[in-house]
Amino acid sequence: MADTGKIREWIIGLSDDYIVEWANKGLLRRGRKLAQKAGEGDFDIADDRIIGHLDGYAQTVDGVGFEHLRCDCPAAETCHHLTAFLLALRDRLPQTCPETPASDETDKNGSDARPWLIPDAGEREKMLGRSVIRRAFRLMMQSVPVEVTENSDGLVAVVREKEVRTVRIPRSGGLDGAICSCKARQCVHKALAVLTVCRENGLIKPEEMATDALTPEQGGVIGQIENWLRSLLIQGVGNVSVSQIEQGESLATLARQADLPRIASQIKSVHQWLTDDQARAAHVRPDVLRFRLARIAAHLSALKTLPLPQPMQTLAGVHSRSYRIVHRLHLTGVGAEIWESPTGYCGFTLYLYAPDQKSWYRHTQARPLAFAGENGWRPADEFRRNSWAGGAKYQAIPGASVEMVQGWVSPDLRLSAREGTRINGPIPLEDFGNLPVFEDFPELAATYARFLSGNIFSDERFMPVIIAAPSFEKAAFDPYQQLWSRTVTDRAGFPVHLRLELARAHAQQAVRVLENIDRSDALPRIFGLLSQRDGEMVLRPVSISIKTPSQWRHLSMAEGES
Ligand SMILES: [Zn+2]
Ligand SMILES: [Zn+2]
Repeated sequence: MADTGKIREWIIGLSDDYIVEWANKGLLRRGRKLAQKAGEGDFDIADDRIIGHLDGYAQTVDGVGFEHLRCDCPAAETCHHLTAFLLALRDRLPQTCPETPASDETDKNGSDARPWLIPDAGEREKMLGRSVIRRAFRLMMQSVPVEVTENSDGLVAVVREKEVRTVRIPRSGGLDGAICSCKARQCVHKALAVLTVCRENGLIKPEEMATDALTPEQGGVIGQIENWLRSLLIQGVGNVSVSQIEQGESLATLARQADLPRIASQIKSVHQWLTDDQARAAHVRPDVLRFRLARIAAHLSALKTLPLPQPMQTLAGVHSRSYRIVHRLHLTGVGAEIWESPTGYCGFTLYLYAPDQKSWYRHTQARPLAFAGENGWRPADEFRRNSWAGGAKYQAIPGASVEMVQGWVSPDLRLSAREGTRINGPIPLEDFGNLPVFEDFPELAATYARFLSGNIFSDERFMPVIIAAPSFEKAAFDPYQQLWSRTVTDRAGFPVHLRLELARAHAQQAVRVLENIDRSDALPRIFGLLSQRDGEMVLRPVSISIKTPSQWRHLSMAEGES
């Protein structure tokens, strides 16, 4: 190593949080006691290492990073001599006289240093490992949620993969001093944290990210499933052979093993239907099976086309982002929905409007489907029972106003629920007064055009919006594209098309509610996400308010769940 300057910088910059993450609170406490007892202590500072003598044992550090620490006591793992050693050095090193660092080093390693920003792809590979970077990009493509915060100590990233992992990268010491709660030295979480901030700072070229979202194993399983579906469609349900049916079962198992839980459960239900003699004897119409197969095919193709050009938000609803702190943000709750993404996540999203900023915000809670299944985590239950950071209950927020006394918001206006978030309220609304409700659809079209032109660098193409629709046409169903639609018009007869993809989870109950709206209902307000297809305005409805502004019915949730 031959560089105590770097080691010195790293140790001086260590916060208690880092030490606890590496050891634990108990060892930090015991270490602090021992360091106090040792007083000035006894350290040998050589060219390439620092040696301490505490409690009759020798401690050594000969590089940047916790793995360069050793103690010769009999403890098998981390011991309190080492935490004491670090604490004592952290206090003492600033008083010892370091060799004067070169001025550019000072710039790079000062308290503003951001060692996680690595502009050069080759350098990133050298520091993080090529295969680890590939895996991290794959997680990114799968929209594994990452929350990144920069504070005075350094960077903290929370990665919600199968388990929640916390990565810390200190400002001094940089990647060598980085630590992850998974305890692995070279881990994919550190790489994902670095790639996430690099990407947000425009340091990653699109071609670098053009990696497959799927592992080779997943790609292979999907290919087999597609062949199976094709053979079922070509031969017709009546001619399905026993071996074809059995293949469905083994494909479901393969899909589950390949971490494609949603596909696995769909294949399994088709397989069950195929094996159910009674159902087949009852001559269930072939188009019912076709519908199921089309639904699976839609998910498969969504998975295959995931990486680019429109990767994260549209398909998954969650993606990597960094947050900044906000205070006293006044919000009006409007819509809420529960969803499943083709990338294997489920969750709920709450939509809120900030009248002062004239902006829409959203708050999402999501978990991997596999986790949700094993732990009984149901988005609708979470929404109904839980509260936002211990404040307002989620389900009481739509139709009410809340104040975010303190919270965190991402560049694309997503609000987090991290520790320290404080929410006051909710206070139910008396009227729609401070909400933008569009009754004039040409005006809505103009607003959407401005939204798009203000978002050219973003892949967000869906604008949250509330419309008041005086007249409804008859609902229509397109069996080929599996689309339900119903056109609503403003007073001048200008149309907006309500449209639902039936392959989406929970679409059927939304259809039931929307088909039952009739003229006797007093001017329903519909909240949804607006987009444009073939020059027409298309609204994916999320929530609807028929009577009072404080009551929204959430279309993806069954009655009683809203
Ligand atoms: Zn020891
Ligand atoms: Zn890790």
